[in-house]
Amino acid sequence: MTEPHLTCPLCQGIQFQRSIGRINSKWGMNSRPVILLICMRCRHVLPFWDTNSIFDLSNLSEV
Ligand SMILES: [Zn+2]
Repeated sequence: MTEPHLTCPLCQGIQFQRSIGRINSKWGMNSRPVILLICMRCRHVLPFWDTNSIFDLSNLSEV
């Protein structure tokens, strides 16, 4: 099984920094975490909802 590779859609970069963001719900009661991957080449931000992704987000260095 081949591992999916995460590449930046803009610059095809493969190095990302990880940051945690929050999305507020409509009522502002609870906020859900979103994982933000920031391309280290062009600073494009890829948002991921929660942590369940086919991409392994856990081994990226946190900002
Ligand atoms: Zn990029």
